Parts: sequence; structure tokens; C-alpha cells
Amino acid sequence: MPGRLEHKVALVTGAGSGIGLESAILFAQEGASVLLVDINVDAAEKTAGLIKQKLPSAKTKVTKADVGKEADIKAAVDLAVKEFGRLDVMFNNAGIMHPQDDDALTTEEKIWDLTMQINLKGVWWGCKYAILAMRNNATDASKGLHTGGSIINTASFVAIMGAATPQLAYTASKGGVLAMTRELAAVHAREGIRVNSLCPGPLKTPLLMDFLNTPEKKERRLVHVPMGRFGEAVELAQAALFLASDESSFVTGTDFKVDGGLTSAYVTPL
Ligand code: NAD
Repeated sequence: MPGRLEHKVALVTGAGSGIGLESAILFAQEGASVLLVDINVDAAEKTAGLIKQKLPSAKTKVTKADVGKEADIKAAVDLAVKEFGRLDVMFNNAGIMHPQDDDALTTEEKIWDLTMQINLKGVWWGCKYAILAMRNNATDASKGLHTGGSIINTASFVAIMGAATPQLAYTASKGGVLAMTRELAAVHAREGIRVNSLCPGPLKTPLLMDFLNTPEKKERRLVHVPMGRFGEAVELAQAALFLASDESSFVTGTDFKVDGGLTSAYVTPL
């Protein structure tokens, strides 16, 4: 059976850990050629090694890029096209949650700016260079390839609901990702470029577990999650795969929530 991303080319940022790692593996398993991008190139190389172990014939390449730098993102997109011939899927997933990000009174401007640089500007640039590349995609009906493509931007449930445990810059940056994604979806819809946000709930990845480093901090969150557990990165990768594949061909501009019911619940089960 052909894979769900057969013949497609995908670029995944933050491919060295968490959602990006699981997505790069899954995209390759489903037949995509994958460019793994991370600021931590050793971590991305490890992901590529895992893919090679599972799928010796997989087409992958690794590159170091800081998504907070426009030139790095442009170079990564150029590399994907040079190496694999086109770009069908852009997963703007890398993001940071800074330990000094706090409330309006205590968050320093440099923390705000760094967070925006990576989480919001990085996604803008990722969209910009992906759109330019996707406009050049040729159609090949025999391979199920089209013009246009699918852009997926990782936002967060905190873009939708407030928390009394503030991370003001992070929350604002993710709200920006949601708003920007909707607008890009509308602007580029007739070019066949779909743009969607992925809104993860709290996950068992280093990003959150390093922050929720005591049982009390974990429990303070879990009481709000109807499913009563943290999500797994692979559960987000499955959702990203749907948005990346042609199965979601009529889906654009959506905030795809994958959150164990968190954003739908007022009172959770005991
Ligand atoms: P993670 O920390 O496990 O992985 C993030 C990866 O991004 C790392 O490999 C890191 O090296 C890379 N990275 C960081 N800064 C970068 C930069 N400037 N340029 C390139 N790569 C960079 O995180 P994760 O949990 O997999 O999170 C992925 C995305 O999901 C992030 O955008 C995050 O905000 C979002 N998210 C996570 C959760 C959660 O609970 N973990 C919840 C909601 C949203």
C-alpha cells in the first residue's frame, strides 16, 4: 500500500525532539522525503539515525538552522528543493518556552523579544519561504503530486485559553501564530496552499516536563485535562500527518486542537 505522503517532500523544524522528532519519523514512514531542521544539529542527526534504522531506504537530510533567523530558514527551504526537487509540506514546529517568561510585570523585554523572534517571526519566515517554494511545484498526476502544498504551524492550547500560571510572551506568540495562520490560509487558498495550526495540549516532551519539574506542578495541570494525562508527542505527529496529507484536502485555516479535551471542559471527571 502506498504511504500517505508518497512522493511528497516535507521539511520539519524542531526535528531533534518531541513533536518534530515523531513527525519526521512518521512522515518518512509514510513515504515522504524529509529535511530535518533543528538548531541542535546533533539531536536532528539522532532522529535521522532512528529513521535510517527503521527504514534503510528513507530519504532524509539534516541541516542546522535557527528559525529565529530569516537567512537560516531561507537556506533550509532552498536545500529541501535542491535536494528533493520540491516542497509539499512545511511543518513550522520549533518553538521555545523560556524559563524567565512570566507575567506582565516581571517578564524582561529581552525574553519577550527572543520568544517572538523564534515562535512567531520564525513561523512567519517559514510560511514565507514555503509559499514561494510551493508556487513552483509542478503537477504530476501519476504520482499524486499537485501545485501548492500544506503548511502546518504549531501553536498551543494557551493561544485559546488563559492560565493563572503565566508565560506571557509564549502565550502571546502562540496567539499570533493562530491569527497569522488564519490570514495566510485565506490569502493563499486559491493557490492550493493550505495553512493550518496545530494546537497541542500539554505533552510529555522535554519542553513541558523540564518546566513542570515537580509532582505538584504536574497535578496542577492534569486536573484540567478530561483525559487525566499528558499527551504523547506521537499523538501530535499523527494529527500533523493528517494535515500534511491529501486526506485533509478541504481543511485550511483551522485551529486543530489535540488536547485530551482540555479546551472543551469546564468541570473534569473526578
Ligand atoms: P521540544 O523542546 O521537545 O522540541 C523542540 C525542538 O525545537 C528541539 O529539538 C529544539 O532544539 C528545537 N529548537 C528550539 N529552538 C529552535 C530554533 N530557534 N531553531 C530551530 N530549532 C529550534 O518541544 P515540543 O514539546 O516538541 O514542542 C514543539 C512545539 O510544540 C513548540 O512550538 C511548542 O511551543 C509546541 N507546544 C508544545 C506543547 C507541550 O506541552 N510540549 C504544548 C503546546 C505547544
